[in-house]
Amino acid sequence: MDLKKIFSEIYDSLNDVEDAGKVADYIPELANVSPDHFGVHLVTVDGQHYDFGDSDIRFSIQSIAKVFSFVMAYSQIKSTIWERMDVEPAGTPFNSLVQLEYDKGIPRNPFINAGAIVVCDILAGELASPKDNIRSFVRDLCGNRTIDYNPLVAHSEKKTGFRNYALVNLMKSFGNIHNDIDAVMDLYFHLCSLEMSCRELSDSFLFLANNGIVPYSGKQILSPSRTKRTNALMQTCGFYDEAGQFAFKVGLPGKSGVGGGIVAVLPGKYAISVWSPRLNPKGNSFKGMLFLEEFTTRTHLSIF
Ligand code: GLN
Repeated sequence: MDLKKIFSEIYDSLNDVEDAGKVADYIPELANVSPDHFGVHLVTVDGQHYDFGDSDIRFSIQSIAKVFSFVMAYSQIKSTIWERMDVEPAGTPFNSLVQLEYDKGIPRNPFINAGAIVVCDILAGELASPKDNIRSFVRDLCGNRTIDYNPLVAHSEKKTGFRNYALVNLMKSFGNIHNDIDAVMDLYFHLCSLEMSCRELSDSFLFLANNGIVPYSGKQILSPSRTKRTNALMQTCGFYDEAGQFAFKVGLPGKSGVGGGIVAVLPGKYAISVWSPRLNPKGNSFKGMLFLEEFTTRTHLSIF
């Protein structure tokens, strides 16, 4: 299949669709991105790369990073994480407080903000140097030592992250945050500020399409069984209250971020990343979702 040609045909077909999305501006620093960027990168488990558009420009990966922190905790931390969070789709927005009160401070899953904040609490309590350790982990996954946090984005979110502070305080009141709140949130905001390109994202997610093994280094990150479970979590929880739509239309386990990125994997075959900054009302990339829907429909390369 000529995937590059397919990418360009789909991109052209989307030119006729009005981009109804809006760039995230609740984190002021994110509003500075040019909204018309568009990039795609696909890498296969046997090492073939296909790209299109702005696939080498780094952007703020935001909640996509929740997969990295979760995988780190799931693979390296001895204490059980499943006493601190569940594995159920939330069906609510990524920063919702409502359910958390009913669930007594136990987040529904690790990919909503509350769940990722608990993962940060676990990592803050158990790693020697959590910010450095997470960054090295991500660098190793994609084989690029220059990947880094953007301190301006982390700072911008810290200054305006009232809702995230509400989540962490509510969980602390239920005893589900063990460390100092400011240390946990500093880690969470830095995690979200990681900047990567589509190519780097696809490379770093490829182990989830390869039974938990990073193809370029041969390193086993997760067992096949835990890899299956991580993909199941992405499938059911990766797009918040739009997880059903993403499964229905695209049919791949994946994860989105409010920087406009989406990464998805087809186990045994490939990882794909798309970046288009305008978001739909659920906080997922408007064009990115349309692109992936068209891609899996034309190529039949979905899990369904
Ligand atoms: N840093 C963002 C927040 O906490 C991440 C949200 C997202 O990408 N969905 O609001």
